[in-house]
Amino acid sequence: MATQEDVVKAVKAARKAFDTGPWPGMSGHERGRILIKVAQLIEKHADELAYRETVDMGKPIAYSSNVDVPLLAELFYYYGGMASKIDGSTRTSNTPTLNYTMREPLGVVAAITPFNFPLLLSGSKIAPGLCAGNTIIHKPASGTPLSAIKMAEIMEEAGLPEGVFNLVTGRGSVVGDMLVKHPDIDKIAFTGSTEVGKGILKATADTLKKTTIELGGKSANIIFADADIDKAVQNAFFGIFYNKGEICTAGSRLLVERPIYEEVIDRLVKQAGELPKGDPLDPEVLFGPLADEGQYEKVNDYVKIGLEEGAELVTGGQPFSVNGCNGYFYEPTIFKNATLDMRIVQEEIFGPVLAITPFDTEEEAVKIANGTAYGLAAGLNTNDVRRAHRVAKALKAGIVWVNTYNQFDVAVPFGGIKDSGVGRELGSEVISAYTEVKSVMVDMQL
Ligand code: NAP
Repeated sequence: MATQEDVVKAVKAARKAFDTGPWPGMSGHERGRILIKVAQLIEKHADELAYRETVDMGKPIAYSSNVDVPLLAELFYYYGGMASKIDGSTRTSNTPTLNYTMREPLGVVAAITPFNFPLLLSGSKIAPGLCAGNTIIHKPASGTPLSAIKMAEIMEEAGLPEGVFNLVTGRGSVVGDMLVKHPDIDKIAFTGSTEVGKGILKATADTLKKTTIELGGKSANIIFADADIDKAVQNAFFGIFYNKGEICTAGSRLLVERPIYEEVIDRLVKQAGELPKGDPLDPEVLFGPLADEGQYEKVNDYVKIGLEEGAELVTGGQPFSVNGCNGYFYEPTIFKNATLDMRIVQEEIFGPVLAITPFDTEEEAVKIANGTAYGLAAGLNTNDVRRAHRVAKALKAGIVWVNTYNQFDVAVPFGGIKDSGVGRELGSEVISAYTEVKSVMVDMQL
């Protein structure tokens, strides 16, 4: 647990490294080489990173090892390559001047990250932030600091100049709040809940910091009757139960066209029964315990709310134990006949709870899908190519998956609209969130 004095030290170090250190002025080629070294060290320490991620928050080691850590390395390779490609442009002139722009780093960036993908959501800020020449202070969620501590060691091993990367663990309400209000920090890159994100936006107003905020979701996944049903059920299942539902893009609302409604539900229930659940360190397990007691209580409360609201529970709805160990294990849970006015349909549960709703027409499906305050992700399953593009356009979300779900690629921009956030991460788009444009006009009059 870092103290407020640690925050003061981290800000001083990051400020000094930006204002007088070599990092911002180093060529992109040189910075890129160091980021690629970070990627290689992530691969070298892959087992330890994956282990720490799993013991910290219950993510099955199968995912930590095969998804989180390789994607983290990919982030540093990708932005290592991009560091030498951050260009300005020349502009035509209506005056006797030569006009050009350049992109400059912002300064000191504080990256504040949540508990559910500790490595990936910090990497998606640290890698592009460093790539653009900023210095970084990372504050991980207070419940999941272990992989972040290993990453700090890796940064040092990779040869980043002193003060360029800093880690402060500790509570959001103490160290996080201090970072958000600190006058020597230029940008906050935040991922977390909508409630905390809105508070951060307000708190940064006095110091006019740049902010990107990636927030919660209540994403709808639509299955049309013409879809490949095997694939659609698979997409729906891992759309919600991947990472125990502790994923911002969870397809927590499933909309199914009426002719295949009961069949889809039966198949999902069967699959829930067959899901390998248990000790997340067992490589065969794909469904572990929830991250902590708070998560467990929240999921349990929402299941009660769903029952009170009149949704029909078809599977789960209770904890389970593994070899006599209670932990925070909670069954994959499915409600059917959920309606748009229900809290389990409107509010983010952030756990393994799926609410299924039938629909009769494409227009109705789109209307229900767009009927919450959130706009992070959406999915649709159909074999009709014209419908796929039409519905993808109509869905109000930052990313739309067609005949797939929860697919991520470092090159594809990611972020939400409405209550799901402001700004985009990943791809080349994120570079504009870590740089400022400077325009230069040179008098060319003879
Ligand atoms: P959270 O409670 O909002 O916390 C996120 C981070 O903010 C943590 O490091 C937290 O520290 C810190 N924090 C809390 N209060 C703060 C304050 N007043 N000032 C500064 N920092 C503060 O979120 P979470 O429970 O960890 O994560 C779950 C949420 O994140 C869900 O809503 C999920 O949808 C969202 N999420 C969004 C995305 C996306 O890309 N859109 C991705 C993943 C998760 P403590 O841990 O000490 O509280």
